[in-house]
Amino acid sequence: DLEVALKVVIVGNGGVGKSSMIQRYCKGTFTKDYKKTIGVDFLERQIEVDGEEVRLMLWDTAGQEEFDAITKAYYRGAQACVLAFSTIDRDSFEAAHSWKLKVENECGEIPTVIVQNKIDLIDQSVVSPEEAELLARALGCRLVRTSVKEDLNVTAVFRHLAQRCLAE
Ligand code: GDP
Ligand code: MG
Repeated sequence: DLEVALKVVIVGNGGVGKSSMIQRYCKGTFTKDYKKTIGVDFLERQIEVDGEEVRLMLWDTAGQEEFDAITKAYYRGAQACVLAFSTIDRDSFEAAHSWKLKVENECGEIPTVIVQNKIDLIDQSVVSPEEAELLARALGCRLVRTSVKEDLNVTAVFRHLAQRCLAE
């Protein structure tokens, strides 16, 4: 049996929950102040998709997104992308287009999911459901609303990406 390995990059402004999502998906944990483990580039999780073993390697940005310093090594060879924004951070929503362009410049067109995270804070939302739908349509991507905190829809994001990659 050949095992498929997929490099997945997770982009979006600082604070939207990227590291938390990787941690949640690969380790099943959630903390309020997640600190990146020094020296670890990615975490991985193996899943079965349509009878195939898929090893997902989820790469974290180590906070470089804050000062626009994500290196080419981060993007190199990425086969799928999670583009995340936060329900309670308008800037992170507005930045989605430019994140999509950055990934496209480095990786070309790769399967991408737009993630609206922190849906548990919907009462404080600064992005309307229609705006989120329009964004996803404009970028030609599926929109998935998640709460990493409540463990809502996180596995669906990566299952969808793995399926898309296997279908190519
Ligand atoms: P990153 O900078 O994109 O890697 O974001 P982090 O993973 O460091 O998360 C930033 C903050 O948001 C942390 O305090 C997390 O605990 C919190 N956070 C992440 N996901 C969620 C979520 O779904 N809901 C809520 N309420 N907080 C979240
Ligand atoms: Mg982080």
